[in-house]
Amino acid sequence: MKKYILLLLIFAAFNHKISAQIVYRYETNLKALSNDKLAVNLKISGFSEDTLTYCFPKIIPGIYGAMNFGQYISAFEVFDKKGKKLKTERKDQNSWKVYNASAIAGLSYLVDDAWETFGYKTGRGFYRSAASSFSDSSFVLTPNSLFGYFRGHTEHPIEVSVRKGINLYPATSLKKTQKLNQDLFFAKNYHQLVDNPIIYALPDTTLIKLPGISVEVACYSTSGKAISKDIAEYIRPLLISQSKYLNNKLPVDHYTFLIYHNLAPDNSHLVGDGLEHSNSTLILLYMPLDIETIRQNIYGIASHEFFHTLMPLGLHSEEIENYDYNEPKFSKHLWLYEGMTEYFTMHMPVKTGLTTEKEFFKTVEGKIADMHEFKVDLPMTDLSLHPMEMQDQYYNVYLKGALINQCLDLKLRELSGGEYGVKDLVLDLMAHYRGKPFEDDKLFSEMVIVSGFPELKEFTEKYILGTEPLPLEDYLLKAGLKLENGKISDIPNPSPEQQKLRKDWLH
Ligand SMILES: [Zn+2]
Repeated sequence: MKKYILLLLIFAAFNHKISAQIVYRYETNLKALSNDKLAVNLKISGFSEDTLTYCFPKIIPGIYGAMNFGQYISAFEVFDKKGKKLKTERKDQNSWKVYNASAIAGLSYLVDDAWETFGYKTGRGFYRSAASSFSDSSFVLTPNSLFGYFRGHTEHPIEVSVRKGINLYPATSLKKTQKLNQDLFFAKNYHQLVDNPIIYALPDTTLIKLPGISVEVACYSTSGKAISKDIAEYIRPLLISQSKYLNNKLPVDHYTFLIYHNLAPDNSHLVGDGLEHSNSTLILLYMPLDIETIRQNIYGIASHEFFHTLMPLGLHSEEIENYDYNEPKFSKHLWLYEGMTEYFTMHMPVKTGLTTEKEFFKTVEGKIADMHEFKVDLPMTDLSLHPMEMQDQYYNVYLKGALINQCLDLKLRELSGGEYGVKDLVLDLMAHYRGKPFEDDKLFSEMVIVSGFPELKEFTEKYILGTEPLPLEDYLLKAGLKLENGKISDIPNPSPEQQKLRKDWLH
């Protein structure tokens, strides 16, 4: 019996050693761009399965519509170590079944990009900042559209070798070593790879050093002009204010703003699009080369995307932690991930003295007006669980989602005598979970425990799980404000309590 156990243990250790040796080694060559396609090779071996499925993501974290990245792949072939082709079968748009998988030594395919240049017209559910674009002068590489994974094998380390012209610089938060005409990138697993887009272009980068964080602003403008210095000058005070707002503690120590600017002829149609990652954000802009316009637009996007380092990146449920790129399960808490992020983006400038109350109220009025374009009988939690099916309602997470948190902030301030707001709740939840994911169904009850306010139960039941209209008028009145015909104004003679709540909320 003992011997048997010993043997099993040795076998288990041996097995573990073999599987730990699997490494994805990807290669591509930007100089060999042909018909707008890049050839990608993967060297990998060590599998013990008879069959395996190689997948490109259907969707990735941070977007809520199916992008089906497999649609851009062609000439997919798998080889054994003698270079003989293995039998494969395309299962759907995004996945290939590979037979005799234990003989796999490598594979190859071509990747087309998903957009060239872009203007203001975008299709609903097409998330450009999640997709790649290739041209001779710049490459926007989102790893999820270039590199796939074997199902069940997303935890192995990945190395990516990119050959390129010597004039191209790779901006990314991914660990890298650079040589003259070849760069190597390292990710501990597939999740980390997907979490780190890369822009290749002529170098236009500016470094911002702040206490506890180093931030690279890397830009590419189709105008051919260098813009990173101007943009960095504008992002620096933004980051200082965000740090102040978060009690002088930022959630990451390095970060990259990857900014792609496409020149628009005039100011009539502007587009700004961003996708959050743990240590970077990819921002796409369509606007004229007018640094003031660019700055104004970048401000809101950069602020929103950077606040995402708190949620969902630092605070999220198991569905997001164990993200399945091809059969995703969604969390019910978009009111937190997007709604709270958007509320912080609105609230931080007034709270830290960057903007006036008047400007803040204008933003709130805009959100209220826009929210009325969306369904009132759809609970936020239902929208959150089924975002792919409800693309026409999705935008409301930035409207009603933010306003829910404004009400919650006022509620918490009222309950705590002004001391405690949603920002404190988020920081307390992060400290409570310490980087571990939470159980989706337990968040609301744990918010009660962490904050110490049992009144939150009724609030979440009515306004997040339920469809009761948000008590915007009542709650604004607590701060001495009147909401009438969509406009916010002062009430005459506010009480000392109302004045105090307003001060604690906005100053
Ligand atoms: Zn967002």
